[in-house]
Amino acid sequence: MTITPVYSVVIPVYCESQGLFKLLQELYQVLTPLNKEFEIILIDDGSPDNTWLILGQLCLQYPSLKAVRLSRNFGKEYALSAGLELAKGEAIIIMDGDLQHPPALIPAMVNMWRSIPKPDIVEAVKTRRSQESFFTRAGAKLFYSFLHKTSGYDLRGASDYKLFDRKVLNAWSRMGEHNLFFRGMSAWLGFNRVQIPFEVPDRLSGSTRWSTKNLIKLAITGVTSFSSLPLHFVTFSGGIFLLVAVIIILQTLWLKLIGYAVNGFATVIILLLIIGSLLMISLGIIGIYIARIYDEVKLRPRYLISETLNVLNSEQDFTESRPDPEAKLDRFHRSSRSN
Ligand code: UDP
Ligand code: MG
Repeated sequence: MTITPVYSVVIPVYCESQGLFKLLQELYQVLTPLNKEFEIILIDDGSPDNTWLILGQLCLQYPSLKAVRLSRNFGKEYALSAGLELAKGEAIIIMDGDLQHPPALIPAMVNMWRSIPKPDIVEAVKTRRSQESFFTRAGAKLFYSFLHKTSGYDLRGASDYKLFDRKVLNAWSRMGEHNLFFRGMSAWLGFNRVQIPFEVPDRLSGSTRWSTKNLIKLAITGVTSFSSLPLHFVTFSGGIFLLVAVIIILQTLWLKLIGYAVNGFATVIILLLIIGSLLMISLGIIGIYIARIYDEVKLRPRYLISETLNVLNSEQDFTESRPDPEAKLDRFHRSSRSN
């Protein structure tokens, strides 16, 4: 008989082989004194280095460690969702595997979760970001303020270091989208939440595993999943241009009536260029949303698992159950019938 753990720690890792020993050591140091059953779930997001090999060794050493290997690099959000679907605990702690989310904070998070009135989400909030380049910092600032203005969610300082109560994870599991933006999704969920400040230490080894391309993709997913305001921008700019067009038409007609020939070549060129660029941008924005819809209706699984360690077959059922194409199709048909 398997004992249901009280705490599940879910960590996506990509090429983190160098820091895994230290990570596990620190996690055991803080989790063992809590005197409750726990499980640590590490998801190898298709690392090309020896991360999976090291995880194999660690699974022999640490019985509470479960490891899952995805069939390729799907991205952090997808690796995280694989781990969350496997987690069995009453409290689920989500963190990064590079020790930038210090395990020493876990006892304080757990104490908050156990306190009365019991919060449903304990979120660690960054009071200081780690050493980052000027462009990363400026890009993050721009993205968060744009997201705040378009969607209303203020995620400045938010991190993916969180503790979820079981009922929050159950609610998260009902969010069936394919394009994942974990930070935004957890803000959308609501529930009672408390915050705990922490300073982000520098990376244990190597540099960020996020490529600029993936960060831009995540930022676009973040905005398009939580706001349709960019689509309204298309209508808004169309309206402004209609207004300007009416003024120019009236002026041209008036000049023609009084017999004055216009030499407004520059005006025509400028207008053409502006309208052309705006049309392109508008089509692009609509295209991004169509691509999102296309991704969602393809009903592909979010990730694929190639190997597991210390995971029972019964626990692996989750790979079949999420996302549930049957249920999704059913929902799709029902909604198209009701329209
Ligand atoms: N990560 C992942 N898949 C990826 C990129 C990153 O699982 O494609 C993991 C990474 O190993 C780490 C966490 O996600 O545990 C956060 O990544 P990173 O530290 O590179 O991000 P940053 O701290 O720079 O935001
Ligand atoms: Mg990091």
